[in-house]
Amino acid sequence: MGNCIFCKIIAGDIPSVKIYEDDLIYAFLDIAPINPGHVLVIPKEHHESASTIPEATAGRMFRIGSRIGIALKRELDYDAYNLHLADGTAAGQVVMHAHLHVVPRGVEDNFHWNWRQLTYADDAARAAVAEKLVRRLADASEIQK
Ligand code: 5GP
Ligand code: ZN
Repeated sequence: MGNCIFCKIIAGDIPSVKIYEDDLIYAFLDIAPINPGHVLVIPKEHHESASTIPEATAGRMFRIGSRIGIALKRELDYDAYNLHLADGTAAGQVVMHAHLHVVPRGVEDNFHWNWRQLTYADDAARAAVAEKLVRRLADASEIQK
């Protein structure tokens, strides 16, 4: 927390280009955008993982992220936008203060997610994966762990 770059941005100790702010969240231009207008939406409270952000704040992040996406389309003539959140280093998270990327997209912006499409070995393998997840989610005490 003490050394968190995004906490310093919220505090004004590191400059940023503010797009939106309210009691719960802060949104600013990414310093190295995928496309111009790429915005980061962050909770004012320091959370490393999105999983510990209180529901009202997480909901606000998603809602404002969507509003920013629509503003990008209407004001900057983009065709669409991605909402992207990397939770954990292996998922690509570099700054360990949870943040939602709003990435403006154009039909011909020449950017492609490196997406792949694997298959399950068989139906049983797929069912085993689903069964574990469903069992874990059914236990309300497991939320946010
Ligand atoms: P991550 O890879 O953790 O999902 O994304 C971190 C994002 O933060 C990157 O897109 C990076 O460009 C952005 N970023 C890192 N440091 C700064 C900074 O000091 N100011 C701003 N505005 N963005 C930053
Ligand atoms: Zn922080």
